[in-house]
Amino acid sequence: MMEYTKQIKLYSGKAKTVYTTNDSKLLILHFRDDTSAFDGGKTEQFSKKGEINNKFNAFIMEKLDQVGIPTHFEKLIGPQESLVKNLEMLPIECVVRNIATGSLCRRLGVQDGEDLEPPIFEFFLKNDTLHDPMINEYHIETFGWATKNQVEQMKIYTFRVNDFLKKLFLDAGLLLVDYKLEFGDYQGQLILGDEFTPDGCRLWDIETRKKLDKDRFRHGLGGLIEAYEEVARRIGTLL
Ligand code: 5GP
Repeated sequence: MMEYTKQIKLYSGKAKTVYTTNDSKLLILHFRDDTSAFDGGKTEQFSKKGEINNKFNAFIMEKLDQVGIPTHFEKLIGPQESLVKNLEMLPIECVVRNIATGSLCRRLGVQDGEDLEPPIFEFFLKNDTLHDPMINEYHIETFGWATKNQVEQMKIYTFRVNDFLKKLFLDAGLLLVDYKLEFGDYQGQLILGDEFTPDGCRLWDIETRKKLDKDRFRHGLGGLIEAYEEVARRIGTLL
């Protein structure tokens, strides 16, 4: 069996570091303990976070693959490391919202906690300097950030993720409030990349509406790791 080893550090994001491997088609994602918010304006380390997120992401990605959403995830290779396909990432974030909160409320002045039916889909440009501005399909086409086909496919996959994960979390007593996905191209195929963890989605307890995601850190509520562990325990991925 092939052993995959880290070679060059390709990129270090706010919570993950990406390494090349001895196979040019594969990368290693290292989930660090770092947490950041407000475009890196607030950062802190939380022991065990990398491990919890790596395991959580693996669990969700494998489930998504089973329901027809191709993902970059290959396998877990260490407590904080996963082997993934080497995608050419699109500079776009796809967000679906089932309940109004966060930037939607700030932008449109709508009530925090309002149910959104049908759910709202938004595109954002991945650009820290510009603070990830909201964009639409015309910007994407004109500036060539993705093809029309990729745009259609991203919407289909992102809503398919919603149908599936809303139920998965509901069965665990959790509301999937909103989440962000990123996609890339792999040999001409659109594939889900990046991660799905409580760093990039919002999850509320169905009874109390307690926040069990990165908003605990963003809003200084404390108990971040306890919240992530609670979510992991409820969906059955706790170490
Ligand atoms: P909002 O637009 O309300 O800030 O975020 C909507 C959803 O997308 C939230 O679940 C949030 O966690 C996720 N999200 C949007 N942008 C980012 C980002 O740059 N990083 C991470 N980790 N999550 C993001």
